[in-house]
Amino acid sequence: MIKAKVQTFREVSPTYINLILSATREGTVLEADNELFNLIGFSKKQFDTYFQSNLIHFIREDQRGDFTQLIHSNRRVIFECNSLMNNSTNDWRLLLGYPCERVKEEESVYATLVNLKSQRFVKYGISSREKNSDSDMEEDEEEILEEIIIQEIENNLPLSEKNYKCDKITGLPNELCFFEKAKKIMQKEPQKNYAIVYTDINCFGYVNKMYGYLEGNRLLAFFAAMMKRERDIVKEATRLSADNFVFLITYDTKDTVAEQICMLNEEFSGQCYQERMGLRLILSSGVAFLEEDTSIMSAIDNANTARKSVKGNSLITSCGLFTEEMQQRILWETYVNQHMEAALSNKEFCVYYQPKISLQTERIVGAEALIRWTTPDGEIIPPVRFIPILEKNGFIERLDFFVYEEVCRFLRGRIAKKQNVVPISVNVSGAHLTDSYFVQNIISLVRRYEIPSYLIELELTETVCIENSEVAIDMVRQFREHGFLVSIDDFGSGFSSLNLLKDMETDIIKLDRQFFREGEMHKEEQIIISSIVHMAKKLNMKVISEGVETHAQSEFLKGIMCDMAQGYYFAKPMPLDSFEEVIV
Ligand code: C2E
Ligand code: CA
Ligand code: CA
Repeated sequence: MIKAKVQTFREVSPTYINLILSATREGTVLEADNELFNLIGFSKKQFDTYFQSNLIHFIREDQRGDFTQLIHSNRRVIFECNSLMNNSTNDWRLLLGYPCERVKEEESVYATLVNLKSQRFVKYGISSREKNSDSDMEEDEEEILEEIIIQEIENNLPLSEKNYKCDKITGLPNELCFFEKAKKIMQKEPQKNYAIVYTDINCFGYVNKMYGYLEGNRLLAFFAAMMKRERDIVKEATRLSADNFVFLITYDTKDTVAEQICMLNEEFSGQCYQERMGLRLILSSGVAFLEEDTSIMSAIDNANTARKSVKGNSLITSCGLFTEEMQQRILWETYVNQHMEAALSNKEFCVYYQPKISLQTERIVGAEALIRWTTPDGEIIPPVRFIPILEKNGFIERLDFFVYEEVCRFLRGRIAKKQNVVPISVNVSGAHLTDSYFVQNIISLVRRYEIPSYLIELELTETVCIENSEVAIDMVRQFREHGFLVSIDDFGSGFSSLNLLKDMETDIIKLDRQFFREGEMHKEEQIIISSIVHMAKKLNMKVISEGVETHAQSEFLKGIMCDMAQGYYFAKPMPLDSFEEVIV
């Protein structure tokens, strides 16, 4: 029930509704979405284990009594989140309410996360409140929703924070006020072209540190004042947080906007340089055009996306435009977020197997399990297009376990029929490294299917190992103690490959496929590869080369005593039934 509502509200305004939870009057969470867990930095499993799913744990201890009372009193109050929220920006408040007049299902509360410093309501949750009738949905939902949020915040801010309309440092209207003003401006002169600009002052933290906060504040105010003077272009402005500004601008042609903004930014930079004794401040901006169907809120997000796309070089002023390609990327990400659950239950995901060949015997000695997503219209989506998104939203943990279970089921079937089996390797996403039950869960899984652990090989990428080296080393040790095989995937793709060998004992090194790019192998590459193979032998490790595409590569690897190879030259990843045919 709540899912359907959430879906509706997400469709209405995907940018507002990021955090969704439904809870009982006692504060027990009935349902919460991945975003919530991303935000608090715990997985759902940890959340369940440590906090018994109780919402009350989000509330600061000294306010818990009030919280319980509140839940029963139908009032709304702001509660401070405790330090669990430590991976988000400071000063978040969890706003909770029990909007009884709007809710038919008694046990729902809803929650809004508000950043009081910037008055930015980034996370908004909504209850399973019923709409009066279907026709309601045809109204301008977005505006209604915005109104509700503004009201919520106004009604709920404590007195001390009530003077929220103006940013004390720059004198600019705050974000909520900016929305109202921007809308009015656009309504007044609808014939003009409008865009949102998102600007960030690079290295602003440095100013604060070197010259003190007061000087930092002065610079912010100086920038705001300078931009406000550009009345022909800048129609309204707000400071979202720290050194992040948003402007409503008008423009004549799209082609010249970036250039204009860069000029303004340069001007600021130049003035600072003169007035502040050689302090060179660089700005980066992004622009999103306000077309008929874009809300201000999503334009801000889009402009920020555009800004990030050009921020790479922090030494020159830059300004990027929000492009169709970025739009497509966001749409695709939204599609994946919205369809992944259904795709898993509708069996749209399936596992392909790519054989691994012994270079000496040329027999199949293993395989790697690789996920594939076939959409209902028959399109096969390669993992590179969805895995990074699933890693971001946390769903990869479930999908990986789906793969692990499929592999176990496959092996069990063959063992039961006394058919030939080979070790199957599976990919371990970095997300599992924060799950302290991961090893145990894998052990339980193979026990349940009665699979000997040496038939399962865990591939951890070099990057994952380096980024979480302590956890990874411990995890690898545990897996090996329990008889699993472990390999370092994509070996040689990063900068610290050799360091890793020093610290981490694994069974197999899997040479990254970049070593086997198209064309002939260079002498240098050959020297590096044979040295790695030689070194691995001395360390009692096996080496598999992946991405082997040619006869010459295969012969070379055989010559240097590389143990195994995997690649299109031998076989492409294939569905289960084809794989069963080749390993008879
Ligand atoms: P990976 O683990 O490095 O997997 C090897 C990739 O190389 C596979 O791409 C495979 O199809 C491709 N490949 C194999 N031989 C050749 C060759 O000769 N030439 C070329 N050009 N490519 C070859 P795929 O299946 O598209 O997977 C891409 C990546 O997605 C994988 O890289 C892995 O990082 C990730 N992935 C795939 N399945 C899963 C999964 O179940 N869980 C997780 N966490 N990640 C997965
Ligand atoms: Ca792999
Ligand atoms: Ca690999």
